Amino acid sequence: MKSQLIIKNYRLLKPVLYVLIICNILLLNTKMNAQQKQYKIVLDAGHGGKDPGKVAFKKYKEKDVALKITKKVGEILTKKKNIKVIYTRQKDVFVDLWERGSIANKAEADLFVSIHLNAHTSAAHGTETYVLGVNANQKNLEVAKKENSVILLEENYKENYEGFDLDSPESFLGLTLIQEENLDKSLTIASLVQNNFTDKLKRKNRGVKQLGLIVLHQTYMPSILIEAGFLTNKKECDYLISEKGQNEISNSIANAILDYVKILELNTVAEQEKVEEKKPKKEEKKEVKQTKKERPDIIEGVIYKVQIASSRNKIKTYSRNFKGLKGVQRVQIGKIFRYYYGETNSYKQVNEKLKLAKNKGFKTAYIVAFKNGDKISLDELFE
Ligand SMILES: [Zn+2]
Repeated sequence: MKSQLIIKNYRLLKPVLYVLIICNILLLNTKMNAQQKQYKIVLDAGHGGKDPGKVAFKKYKEKDVALKITKKVGEILTKKKNIKVIYTRQKDVFVDLWERGSIANKAEADLFVSIHLNAHTSAAHGTETYVLGVNANQKNLEVAKKENSVILLEENYKENYEGFDLDSPESFLGLTLIQEENLDKSLTIASLVQNNFTDKLKRKNRGVKQLGLIVLHQTYMPSILIEAGFLTNKKECDYLISEKGQNEISNSIANAILDYVKILELNTVAEQEKVEEKKPKKEEKKEVKQTKKERPDIIEGVIYKVQIASSRNKIKTYSRNFKGLKGVQRVQIGKIFRYYYGETNSYKQVNEKLKLAKNKGFKTAYIVAFKNGDKISLDELFE
């Protein structure tokens, strides 16, 4: 009787069990998906609103074509689970360059892609992609001035770009320090974009170029600016304004971004493995913690500084060149310049300075110690 009841109950329960099992599988899947990192990609359609960008044949505006291509790129990327798309604008509105960078920084994006169209008085055609650079020759500087001049349309540009002189390559130098660390990654994505344009679409490759563009200056992450073609070239203009052209271009850009994300994913796995290898055993960890607690704040003859960057570029140590950090020191070692900030004899204080530097965007900043003028590792110091 009892067993019959159980069997009967089991029959009744069977569908419920199935549902439960399926629910569990679904739950597990969502959990796994949630664990997968989402890469944040900022898509920045150049110009907008009162700033039309370049205007060709009196009717084709850069801002419109750029927006159409940008949105198409976004549509493709949004379909991918591991990607989150953030736009700087989705309508015909004016967004200043400072705000564009700020959107990307606040989102802690992994990549910033700005999309523009080119113009020239000659019959020039083809595509080029820019990364932030400082070896701008005079010709490139002209392009930079054109793309940068939009800041003059911004009401509070004097506040936001304090000390920025559009005519001076020197003033492009300062903020490039942060970007320099991202240069390798920026060059990778820039080449992927250009390769897709040339290999798949057979477009003229004008190359990957380095240039001091303000919109790229404002971001803390790898950033590129794509000039997707010349609106001023009749044949190319027809292609750029056509549905087919815009689809092909946006496909090329989206695929390059997806390939780039794959590279990032591979790197993350490799980095995680490295960390796993290096992870000390539990007992060792305890020891480390203990010594950290015991670190004295002041040790005689010892000073601390925060190393915010090292670079081949000699940059004036004005605070405006270092995101407002004051009292930056520059030390030359061989061909490299090191930039230090926040000299103090207090370990506690230097940690505060480190926090501040990181908040300003110098994400890889770290503390260095000097004993009687000689550099000494923190481990040695606190042994
Ligand atoms: Zn533009």
